Amino acid sequence: MRIIVLIVTGVTLAYLIYFFLTGGKTLSPATFRQEFNEAYKEFIGSFPNEGKLKLPSFMVPNGPNDDGSVGAMNKQYLQGDSFIKLVVEVDHAQGAAPSSAATNELLSALRKYTEKPDGVNVVGANSFESTKDRYTLSDIRAVAKAHRSQNSRDGVATLHVLYLNGLFADDETALGLAVNASTIVIFPDNFSSSITTLVFPSNIEQAVLIHELGHLFGLVNVNYKSVIAHEDPAHKHHSNNEESVMYWAVEDTSVVNILRSGPSHKFDSSDEADIAGIKSGAY
Ligand SMILES: [Zn+2]
Repeated sequence: MRIIVLIVTGVTLAYLIYFFLTGGKTLSPATFRQEFNEAYKEFIGSFPNEGKLKLPSFMVPNGPNDDGSVGAMNKQYLQGDSFIKLVVEVDHAQGAAPSSAATNELLSALRKYTEKPDGVNVVGANSFESTKDRYTLSDIRAVAKAHRSQNSRDGVATLHVLYLNGLFADDETALGLAVNASTIVIFPDNFSSSITTLVFPSNIEQAVLIHELGHLFGLVNVNYKSVIAHEDPAHKHHSNNEESVMYWAVEDTSVVNILRSGPSHKFDSSDEADIAGIKSGAY
């Protein structure tokens, strides 16, 4: 008998709490979760130590997802409603410093394509010593974790660019790599294998950096499906246009054998249409 009373009381209480939170409306679970999130954020924001209490990530729709798969944060980067600011951190191993031309190119692409009312800023770079000459994916993750000082948080999306000495152990011809939703790795030691009298290391560096940024934006067909048929069937998630920075060879040392006059460091009109579609919410 006592158990029955307890169950009835529990069910009644749960219903009353639900009724109180929803105002008596019948809400879908997704809407209920969204309204609950908003109420919770308001509640947390009323405390002086705001930000110390965090919502569990599964409760945050489209929340920060730095360690997610490549392209998983494309909306957070491109759209401007919930992530209003973008912070870029560029760290490098000693002897593998980025050029200011390339980082400026990255910044101007970010300012051109992303909607960030509070701006796109670069934070101070960390430089560190590394004696490794080959990095596996788990080495890269460990180095990135050890040196990254900025992580995405409420309203602020972050992008981590890591320049490493040595090569990628799993593919020694890689010039760069998109590691996860928010991390780009560049291997400048490989630039010297990719230059000719016509193509300079700076051409390669700018192209690779923008190529990897394109992957974080979800190009081509990651986390969305383009209405334009421009994905290369032989190289998934790359453009079939040699004049696009998203052409597959742009991140490989074979680039100058395939693109004799050097790689493009620009998105083509199909890439730009996809970016616009993700930004507007059409995808
Ligand atoms: Zn690629």
